[in-house]
Amino acid sequence: MENKNLFKKVTHLIKNSKKVMVLTGAGISTESGIPDFRSPGKGLWENMDPMEALSTRVLFNYPEKFYSVGFKILSSMRNAEPNEAHYILSEMEKEGIIFGVITQNIDNLHQKAGSKNVYEVHGNTRVGSCINCGRKVSFEVLEEKVNKKQIPPRCDKCGGLLRPDVVLFGDPMPYVFDLAVKEVRTSDLLIVIGSSLVVSPVNFLPDLVDHLIIINATETPYDYKADVVMRERASYALRGIWEIIKS
Ligand code: NAD
Repeated sequence: MENKNLFKKVTHLIKNSKKVMVLTGAGISTESGIPDFRSPGKGLWENMDPMEALSTRVLFNYPEKFYSVGFKILSSMRNAEPNEAHYILSEMEKEGIIFGVITQNIDNLHQKAGSKNVYEVHGNTRVGSCINCGRKVSFEVLEEKVNKKQIPPRCDKCGGLLRPDVVLFGDPMPYVFDLAVKEVRTSDLLIVIGSSLVVSPVNFLPDLVDHLIIINATETPYDYKADVVMRERASYALRGIWEIIKS
């Protein structure tokens, strides 16, 4: 019963908002088999320190280490397939229920599910670039070189170090983050799905809207501010919400 009321409250908020943005984190992709950083017992964080493995400090000072640890985490995400939660968000965008998705994820799963208006504020695992001449290469080029033991991979044009276009710990935020801030400022509702909301500056976004819904398996520091907190799996929560909206 209590759950039914939560679903009703969420759909009421969505229906009464002119512009709805969604913010996703690693938790939306755990049901696609990609571990997150902070789920108790399962997250990547428990086995290694991602701030270390996926940092500019390691990439620039110990590129061999970056390519033998951090890069493997990134590469392993690329074969995953979207789950129901990604597909429902893509449907919601098509139907004009949500304006777009801001994602901290780098797994390409929103696009694979058909979402068009995606703000990848932590970059992606489709492209890489040379830190010296800026030349862009596909992620496959990085993988091919690593598989051929060309570690660290170097630019064919200038010999500079190649890197994935993922925002590593220590990197500045890309321009798309400014665009995402603008979208949230002009929205009346933000729905956060599968994020611990501890990574800055993305975790400032919930402060920029009047109404907030949080769908996350565990507590977040912003729960106190939310109109509704659903402590549920992303796919279960979105399925329930979508069924009510469509009915
Ligand atoms: P996080 O790991 O800090 O938090 C994930 C949250 O999702 C946790 O609070 C967990 O309780 C919750 N969760 C796990 N499974 C869930 C489910 N099925 N339904 C609902 N909630 C669920 O992730 P974050 O906040 O995105 O921040 C960490 C950083 O990790 C980001 O910068 C991101 O780039 C990176 N990351 C990305 C991926 C990915 O692209 N899939 C994977 C791991 C880490």
